[in-house]
Amino acid sequence: MFVLTLALLLWLLTGAASCDAGISLEDPPLKVHFLDVGQGLAVLWEYQGRFALWDTGPDSVGVIDTLKRYGVDSLEWIALSHWHRDHSGGFLELPAAMRSGSLVVKEVFFSNDTGFGFVSDSVFSIIETFRLKSGCYKRGDTLSFAPGFRFQILWPPNYFKSAGNSSSGVLYVKDSLSSMLLMSDLEAPQERELLVLSPTLRSNLLQVGHHGSANSSSIHFLSQVSPSEAVISVGKKNPYGHPALSTLNKFKFVLGDSSYLYRTDEQGTLIWLWHKNVGFWRE
Ligand SMILES: [Zn+2]
Repeated sequence: MFVLTLALLLWLLTGAASCDAGISLEDPPLKVHFLDVGQGLAVLWEYQGRFALWDTGPDSVGVIDTLKRYGVDSLEWIALSHWHRDHSGGFLELPAAMRSGSLVVKEVFFSNDTGFGFVSDSVFSIIETFRLKSGCYKRGDTLSFAPGFRFQILWPPNYFKSAGNSSSGVLYVKDSLSSMLLMSDLEAPQERELLVLSPTLRSNLLQVGHHGSANSSSIHFLSQVSPSEAVISVGKKNPYGHPALSTLNKFKFVLGDSSYLYRTDEQGTLIWLWHKNVGFWRE
């Protein structure tokens, strides 16, 4: 991709001097796993043996087994985008692993989704039982994880009180050169509002909002954000018909080449290696 190519060119041209500037492929990368959790979302961040999780996917898909497979025994934080089961349901599977000591969760964050119900009640009860540090995030907050990478919350803003998809947390991760934008399930009206708050928002990689539903990814939003790669986290033959054909067509237009649109239902877990201030590429 362009940014990657430019970064590598810069790296090659500057040679030894680049080491002084802190640009090196020798440094361990930030590893970004878009986990295959069927119809849902779970993004595992890995840096120098430490882990964090953005959304847990649904319950009953074995999130604990998935975490074990990647060697996760401790999570710096779990941040939940909203209370819908396909994003937060997996959290309900954690107690067994936490009780046996095979998983430590240091902190839990959630958005101010007012759609309380079984999932949120269960999450709050687990937080209380295990006395986990927790808190509600809002636009302007940052989650700390890997030095040199900024994990910034762009949505929801403090004034916004709503339930479900419209209050989905949006996470923007960037270093000095590249960025990834995770939209969770945000839909078109809030995409518009987000661009009013962040009018210059652009991102190299986009996690496509609401599993590619026709209610998200307005062409105005995509043209502004102008991603060069996109990921749809979606279940095989899901009952919602995600992703919508209209959304796939928009990405054909915006990306210019459908091969830069990745899908967990077709390709399984997707992993990017992100070298700080150099660029990222698929493992
Ligand atoms: Zn969802």
